[in-house]
Amino acid sequence: MQESSLGPIPLPAAGQRAAGRFTFTGDEGLAKYEWPYIAIVGKVSGPTVLITAGIHAAEYTGIEAAIRLGREIDPARVHGIVLVIPLLNRPGFYERSVYVNPEDGDNLNRLFPGRADGTWGERFAHRLLTEIVVRFDHAIDLHAGDLVEELTPFVIYRETGDSALDERITRMANAYGARWAVRSAPAGRRQSSDWRRPSPSSSASPWPT
Ligand SMILES: [Zn+2]
Repeated sequence: MQESSLGPIPLPAAGQRAAGRFTFTGDEGLAKYEWPYIAIVGKVSGPTVLITAGIHAAEYTGIEAAIRLGREIDPARVHGIVLVIPLLNRPGFYERSVYVNPEDGDNLNRLFPGRADGTWGERFAHRLLTEIVVRFDHAIDLHAGDLVEELTPFVIYRETGDSALDERITRMANAYGARWAVRSAPAGRRQSSDWRRPSPSSSASPWPT
């Protein structure tokens, strides 16, 4: 039996696509925003795939790619579920914010796993991770050159130490077809440099880099 929702996101019937907006209830700071999504449920069951973009709000080509994927993937060809959330940094988008989230001046991409009682970005990261991301088998976060960047397409993926998971992650990174892949340190041992230059054009599961 197919689930009728994935966290705060209602799902359409099998073989259908639905677009809408969701929010994180019970948190005034988060709930003043709505996040657009496109959910595609195949007729046949299969893996669940999450595609996100816009955690850096001015990386427009990643956002555009996510929107096109959501519009163009044919539900009849999907086995499983594809959920597209094309704009994670919702506060930053209309301010054309480069790298950071204007709610707290932080880089959302560095705040995972977040904190339930933290800053805006930490709370967003916590809710996104615990209510949405963990429900998926695969997660892909699309980036791009930010407003002030020009970069070569590449993938960042994280090594987890779980060999079965690492093999799946490597397969995802290779499937993307980029010439370059950057292996990121396991969670908690992040390298000191941030990824602003070059910023990731795409990153494969696990969430996030
Ligand atoms: Zn980015």
